[in-house]
Amino acid sequence: MTFTVLTAEFMHESNTFSRFRTDLPQFQVDTLLYGDEAMRARRNANTELAGFMDVAEPAGWSVIHAISAHAVPGGQVTKAAYDHIAGIILQAARSNRSRLDGVLLGLHGSMVPEFCQDGEGYLLGLLRAELGADIPVAVTLDLHAMVSEDMVRHAQIFVSYKTYPHVDMREIGAHAARILDRAMRGEIAPRTVRAHVPMLDEANSGRTDIPETLALYDRAREAEAAGLLAVSVNAAFTGADVSCVGPTVLATYDSRDPNAEAAARHVTEELADSIWQGRTSKRNVFIEVDEAAAEALAWRGDKPLVIADYADNPGAGSYGDSTALLKGLLDVGAEGAVFAPMVDPEASAELHQHKEGETVTVTIGGKGDARFGGGPLTVTGVLRKLSDGTYVGDGPIQGGLAHSFGSTAVIDVDGIEVMVVSEAQQMVDLQQLRAFGIEPTARRVLVLKSMQHFRAAFEPIAGKVIVCDAGALATPRAERRRYIRAPRPLWPLDKDFERFIRLRP
Ligand SMILES: [Zn+2]
Repeated sequence: MTFTVLTAEFMHESNTFSRFRTDLPQFQVDTLLYGDEAMRARRNANTELAGFMDVAEPAGWSVIHAISAHAVPGGQVTKAAYDHIAGIILQAARSNRSRLDGVLLGLHGSMVPEFCQDGEGYLLGLLRAELGADIPVAVTLDLHAMVSEDMVRHAQIFVSYKTYPHVDMREIGAHAARILDRAMRGEIAPRTVRAHVPMLDEANSGRTDIPETLALYDRAREAEAAGLLAVSVNAAFTGADVSCVGPTVLATYDSRDPNAEAAARHVTEELADSIWQGRTSKRNVFIEVDEAAAEALAWRGDKPLVIADYADNPGAGSYGDSTALLKGLLDVGAEGAVFAPMVDPEASAELHQHKEGETVTVTIGGKGDARFGGGPLTVTGVLRKLSDGTYVGDGPIQGGLAHSFGSTAVIDVDGIEVMVVSEAQQMVDLQQLRAFGIEPTARRVLVLKSMQHFRAAFEPIAGKVIVCDAGALATPRAERRRYIRAPRPLWPLDKDFERFIRLRP
């Protein structure tokens, strides 16, 4: 029997504290590909769609791929962009309704459109209304998903990444597809249960590569091996002020198995409880700017010192134009360093008025919100490279995928090469430097705007990694942001409460 399956990818992590919006051009500059075009670009890379097809092809499904849309994390998604992308998915569902056997979606889970707080729950609700109660809907999610009750109500199957840096997109895509295939065959009737943790902080302090947090994912895998269809630990995302804020644990089980629901509830509660119990332990060390600058000055290793500019990670919707750390490095005279990227389209355009080799004075950064990570900085340096900003990744996350920083210029300021770009990108791939004439292994210090993803490609070439909080928008100091919609009490804004409110007997 041939099954007909509707597939789509629609992913955005929305930082509601950003004063910017994410509109269609932000999707266009990253990924906005329709039908076959998306299939050609993403079928052979580390993507959810590739994982879907790894199962679909041998199973002989007829796949209708609607769209692949992804934008770099940023402000809330505009209604126009949301309606366009969701509209294409819904239209494909509507026009194929009579022949669809299943739906398979690659979503993020922390998308906030400007008209509602739960972009994924809203989309799944519309799809469910279109397709009826019975058709199986399978969803993949980012590890930083914030999963609402609505999402779980409207889809039966959920599988999230288990890695951060995220390197298992294809694998979890295939995992969700395998469950969907069994559901369509009538072998199983999947359902998902959800446990929630009232925490703002990420479940794993932004790390999954340390023993305490690896244990959460190992336990999830163990429960899968013992028979649950999928167990997902969603660490959540601190940059969105929404009512479904906080980590969640999901377990997808076969509702025909009389013991499976209890097993699913048990493991979700157990994992949610260990996340809650671990809330006070510090699993990431953040250093201040002056300390990072001093280390950069003193570094004598034969491999580069990597400094993560954690709080200004464009991959968390930060502006990517914080100047505090760059100023700290310039003040101490740290040389042989790279600072990447500095997201400032105006400065890049200005630099493009000049020629490579010229000495130029330019004001860079600090334009997003100077209260977070410093104001504009005027620097003089030698223009090393002008580029249109395109590159093709070759690392574990972006390997084989084309991306662009937009109009890009590299300017050498007192021995620090600053990569001034027009489009925000998190640093995750060595090609993000090599394509612009910077050999990362030949530099003393690499400052990278990223929280954790940089580790996949840069840790292997690093002599040492340190993580700096320079106070930009995605600072781990949550009290610096004003949360209004997130329900209280909420750790760590509130300290003295229990995960469950105890009712009097
Ligand atoms: Zn993520």
